[in-house]
Amino acid sequence: MPETYALKVRVSLSMAVCLAAGLLGMVAFASGSGATPNANKGSGVAQAVNCRGDVVLDPGHGGTDPGATNGALKEKDQTLNVAYKLRELLKGAGYTVCMTRGGDPTGTGDDNAADDATLSNSERYTFANTTGARVLVSIHMNGSTNPATDYTTTLFGKWQKDKALALDLYDGLRLNLPAASDSSLYIRGRTPYSYASGVLLKSNMPATIAETVFITNNDEARLLAAGTR
Ligand SMILES: [Zn+2]
Repeated sequence: MPETYALKVRVSLSMAVCLAAGLLGMVAFASGSGATPNANKGSGVAQAVNCRGDVVLDPGHGGTDPGATNGALKEKDQTLNVAYKLRELLKGAGYTVCMTRGGDPTGTGDDNAADDATLSNSERYTFANTTGARVLVSIHMNGSTNPATDYTTTLFGKWQKDKALALDLYDGLRLNLPAASDSSLYIRGRTPYSYASGVLLKSNMPATIAETVFITNNDEARLLAAGTR
């Protein structure tokens, strides 16, 4: 990881920074020696479906599927927020990013569908497989009927394809993200486990689902609502 990133992790400690901390090492690994980011492969055609990039970010849920909720907070909105922040961090480090959904405020055609699109898993992995990306990160927040429950974890589909990425992002989160209930501690972790999601199993590149935090935990919800998570 570049030193500037290690510094940012200590200073900012946001969820996106923690994901970036885990992700940047993996992108470099997956790109082989030299870790050269993709040159801009944009065709110049402002069509999102033509996005080419190093990383695909997949904000979980969307549209008619809100995901887990806590009061007015919806997982689909929070995962998009994290994806936007993470995209900026990755771009700042020289990597190109495609998104399965998300607005395109910069007009660079680096998204696939509108902010609040309803996407099937098939649409998500099919898009990812057109981008030439080296890694795919699906961003989620967990839910539980027990509001006390809160931990971070990541999921992998195929052991060989996905596990290194899942472990990298897991470490990025658990070793850097403060606990919502006590910022002098780190968030609890649950060891990454396999999960038979089409997004993981049908994507061509290393892929993981990051179950970043529990949106149903009120300490987390407070931080998310304040935009400080
Ligand atoms: Zn989810």
